[in-house]
Amino acid sequence: MTRQIAPLLASARSGDWNPLVLTALETESRHWTDAAACSGRATEDFFPAGDAFDRNPTVVKSRAEEAGNSLQRSLNTCARCPLATQARCLVEALEQEAEYGVRAGLLASEREDLHMGWKRRVRDRAVTNALNGVSSALSQAEFKEAISRFARSQGAHDAERTARGLGITRSYLLQLVRNERKKFENLASEHTAA
Ligand code: SF4
Repeated sequence: MTRQIAPLLASARSGDWNPLVLTALETESRHWTDAAACSGRATEDFFPAGDAFDRNPTVVKSRAEEAGNSLQRSLNTCARCPLATQARCLVEALEQEAEYGVRAGLLASEREDLHMGWKRRVRDRAVTNALNGVSSALSQAEFKEAISRFARSQGAHDAERTARGLGITRSYLLQLVRNERKKFENLASEHTAA
């Protein structure tokens, strides 16, 4: 069965961004656009008239259809894009707060909720500080993100320091990290089986 972006979006919308972010990390870090299905396609095809965060996507789509715009072809192109590239494309849009254009098969007007959720997700500096041993009040999402980054860092962070930054004991940190790694492994095996 081919892996699809829809479950990753559903998970992100429910507050768990890990499936989307981990899938995005499967791409080549610098040259991820090399695999993009839209490579060589006219850029304007991905920017339907009148599309923006606060617009109604149904109206945007029907206007594009009336105008004979190639929007549907663009959406089909995204559907053919490798899943990891779609995920990376979307994460980049979220990080750059890209307010216009089709990304991962979503119009800007269909992504607004994801952008809001992404903003609420974490304050990057707070997480980085915690990983480096500087404690501050963290939201639940930031705390989880710090654990997730520690688990993915393959030993790049010092457990003692990070535990101090998170205000927990070293042994509790390592327990949480083991749980998180187990989650990654389960996710990876689900992806492989799919
Ligand atoms: S998801 Fe769509 S817009 Fe993004 S790289 Fe792939 S084809 Fe291009």
